[in-house]
Amino acid sequence: MDDSATQALPPLEPAQLEWLARMADAITVREVAQVIVRIARAETGCTAATVLWGFERDEPPESEPSPLPGSSDLALARAALASAESTFAANGDRLAIPLAHSRPAVLLLKLPPPQATQQLVDAASPLLKLAGRHLARALERAELQLAVAGLERSDLLQRALFAISDLAGSDCDMPDLLKGIHAIVDSLMYAKNFFIARLGSDRQVFRFLYFVDVVDTQQLGDISLAEREGTLTWYVMHDGKALRGDDDQLAAQVSGPLSFVGSDSYVWMGVPMLRDGVVEGAIVVQSYEPGIVYSADDQALLEFVGSHILTALERKRGQDELELSVQQRTLELADANRVLQLEIVERQRAERLQAALFHIAQLATVEFSQSEFYPRIHAEVSQLINAENFFIALLSEDGQTLEFPYYVDKHTTGRRSRPLGRGLSEYVLRHGTSLLRSHGQVEDLARHGEIDLQMTGAPSVCWLGVPLLVGDETIGLVAVQSYDAAVVYGIADQELLGFVASQIANTLHRRRAAENLQQAYDQLEHRVQERTQELRGEISERERIQKQLKHEVMHDALTGLPNRGYLRDRLTRVLGHLKREPGRRCALLYLDVDRFKIINDSLGHLAGDEVLQEVARRLQRCVRDPDLVARLSGDEFAILLEDVAIPSTAVKVAQRILAALSEPAQVAGKQLELSASVGIAVGDARYGQADEVLRDADIALYRAKQLGRKRFELFDETLQKSAVDVLTMESELRMALQLDQFEPYFQPIIRLATGEVVGHEALLRWNHPSRGVLGPADFVRIAEDSGSIEAIDWRMFELSCAQALKLGPSDAYLTINVSPLHFRRADFDARLLELLQQTGFPADRIVAELTEGSLLDDPERVRATLDRLRSVGVGAALDDFGTGYSSLSYLHKFPFRILKIDRSFVAELGEDTQNTSSTVVAAVLALARALGMDVVAEGIETRDQQRALAAMGCEFGQGYLLGRPAPLQHWLANP
Ligand code: C2E
Ligand code: MG
Ligand code: MG
Repeated sequence: MDDSATQALPPLEPAQLEWLARMADAITVREVAQVIVRIARAETGCTAATVLWGFERDEPPESEPSPLPGSSDLALARAALASAESTFAANGDRLAIPLAHSRPAVLLLKLPPPQATQQLVDAASPLLKLAGRHLARALERAELQLAVAGLERSDLLQRALFAISDLAGSDCDMPDLLKGIHAIVDSLMYAKNFFIARLGSDRQVFRFLYFVDVVDTQQLGDISLAEREGTLTWYVMHDGKALRGDDDQLAAQVSGPLSFVGSDSYVWMGVPMLRDGVVEGAIVVQSYEPGIVYSADDQALLEFVGSHILTALERKRGQDELELSVQQRTLELADANRVLQLEIVERQRAERLQAALFHIAQLATVEFSQSEFYPRIHAEVSQLINAENFFIALLSEDGQTLEFPYYVDKHTTGRRSRPLGRGLSEYVLRHGTSLLRSHGQVEDLARHGEIDLQMTGAPSVCWLGVPLLVGDETIGLVAVQSYDAAVVYGIADQELLGFVASQIANTLHRRRAAENLQQAYDQLEHRVQERTQELRGEISERERIQKQLKHEVMHDALTGLPNRGYLRDRLTRVLGHLKREPGRRCALLYLDVDRFKIINDSLGHLAGDEVLQEVARRLQRCVRDPDLVARLSGDEFAILLEDVAIPSTAVKVAQRILAALSEPAQVAGKQLELSASVGIAVGDARYGQADEVLRDADIALYRAKQLGRKRFELFDETLQKSAVDVLTMESELRMALQLDQFEPYFQPIIRLATGEVVGHEALLRWNHPSRGVLGPADFVRIAEDSGSIEAIDWRMFELSCAQALKLGPSDAYLTINVSPLHFRRADFDARLLELLQQTGFPADRIVAELTEGSLLDDPERVRATLDRLRSVGVGAALDDFGTGYSSLSYLHKFPFRILKIDRSFVAELGEDTQNTSSTVVAAVLALARALGMDVVAEGIETRDQQRALAAMGCEFGQGYLLGRPAPLQHWLANP
């Protein structure tokens, strides 16, 4: 296993992966909670599970499944959240486990007796922790959605307010204005039944300014407040507090007994209209239909709208009254058509005054930019009084600085701001009242310490300042002053400026409210953007984990190569392409590392892993994109060539692979020569399934191995047939054992100098019922692969020993061929001895033949086995020497009595020239002599070979020339 991968993510069980997948699908808090409940049921064995969340609100928490559990369970859940360790809280058969660390949520379990709480929690906790984190994310998401909904609401509200303001500024009449306001409120909440009640100036009566109700009819005229004592509207106006809810909830909210007038509604909400904290009236909405709920948000909204309705109403009324009085005065003046000239002048002045006041009032309702607004006010004021020197000053937000957004003065220019001090302006701000002073009176104020003359700038003849008031708060002032003895201000001017000031204050207040709203909106939007960013991050993190999981599922941990699943996917896709473009082909190379088992068993698994990694590296070097190298299992690899025009391309790649692998590899301090067998299947449009291509490549691979490894084979139809034959043969072999179709043939081993028989080799033959006598080449590999070789060998040993007793001469030994598989068994020697005792064949006349492959498997064990056999007289021969791994230096470690030179060396002997084989044979003979071993040359077919061997000093030999393998009867008949 790759360590870094293990640390990053602990291995997950399939069931956990399944839970993970379900969790990933759950989006809403409730969906996630449902998954957690199922996890808890499956993993803890509880009889009931509930997830609770939403503890941080005033309302009761929410639960899955609903309805909410009883109060004792809720208390337990709260206790679990409050506990310092936050692991769990228990009460009888109930257990509460906190879930999402960043948001309070709890899993409540009901347990069957006995309750092993800690173990339960421990067992389920990794999954629950993960689930808890998921729940926290869902809760955050839900909060965010709420925030977005709030944002949308505030957006709606802002638009409603602008609409109300526009309405108030328009020249529609009062009933239309109220109707318009109703339509706006109706767009914000359920307001089919809506009325506005306005208190009279004596505060004893009220009147419905507006009344729309689907059930009740409108009440006309003034209504005495005392008459309505105890009703909901009375409570709202009397206590100045909003009421909201159904009858029960309302009864709980009022301070005394409640009496109802009018029809019974399901829900009712009334808010006071306040001006400077004083109740001026009430706005009410109600529903006679079930299913409507007024929330705290609705209430806040109605209150907010209420305060603006009041302003709008007043502004509208002021405007209307102004217009009305202008008309009236005009009428009156028109009536008195014979008034004095003075009166005419006065009338014109009054007309001008009214018109200017009207303009100023209008200025306050129309949307002007700040820079336009002040000069226009100034222009209008100048129509009324001498305003040559005029300024508007505002208190900064922190209350420390006086700012002059507008300043026109004969002596001072470009005044922007100053820290608060003791000037005349500050006096007005301090007292919240107007100040009208001549220069002399100003000096009086200075003497009383109210002001500092240093701060008053150029001394004016007369100074008039009026505070800008919003409710109780003084936000600034507007002032005029004169430096001219002819210009003096009076009370009338003060009143006039007072009116101007109230209009300015009104407008500024409205502008500020809108700015604040905009700011809040911007902040909220910023937060939403930030959070969205974060969420995106989380989502991509989750995608990364999913991708990693997918990678792990589709890749092999040891080599990092794609695995069988991956290959099949890709192959399926490629086959899909081939179907659409029938001319195209692909090739699949199925590869098996030769003798990997032996390497793995002899050098250890670590070395084995290294070999596989090295093979993986070399294979990857042999292909290029988009070709794919995959590890299928153990020592099996596959290479998918996506687009091969002709089979020879695949063959070229196979050759490249064989060459790349044959370069020596340094593994576990040893130099190894690796090789592989490769089966190639060329895929075309005829293939339907990926598995069919894999199967055919596998068949070709099998063939390559059969033909002696370190080679490749192309699949063709005949191969498929032989693969079918393999399966048939495996079952035939099992039958052959039962039917006793195996027979030993004996081949004599001769002393070359004299021709005397020194021993026999027992060779396996299968008397096949239909195919005649078969040699080992036809079936031993299949028997080895299917595991039946051991049973076959034991049958052979038994028959060989029994029959060889009848072969002469009496001191001749018998060699038996022992499959490498036997040396994996600890009891091989004991079992062989037992067999010898049963058959009565003397142990010291038997020799076990091993191939070099047997030695690699587990050299120590083989040596121990051979040592034990030698101690009872059984000898050992190394068969086919020179064809395998073993080097000459290896030999002395094993107690071999005989060394059999492979017939491939012998075949090359006897020709005239000196060649490699004769050199090798000579070296082997020398070494064997040094180690005290006998040498038998195999496969002597010609006299020349026999002579050459004898000349080199080889003492023994076997071969067709000296005697073909034959059954016992043959040797009994031809001694
Ligand atoms: P081996 O042990 O090297 O056996 C010698 C092989 O060479 C035999 O082939 C034999 O028939 C053949 N041979 C002998 N003289 C000549 C010759 O002059 N020219 C040629 N061309 N061949 C010659 P065979 O009987 O086909 O056996 C093949 C291999 O099967 C054996 O090689 C041995 O490794 C294995 N084998 C034989 N019997 C058994 C058995 O009972 N059990 C196991 N596990 N393997 C066996
Ligand atoms: Mg042999
Ligand atoms: Mg041999």
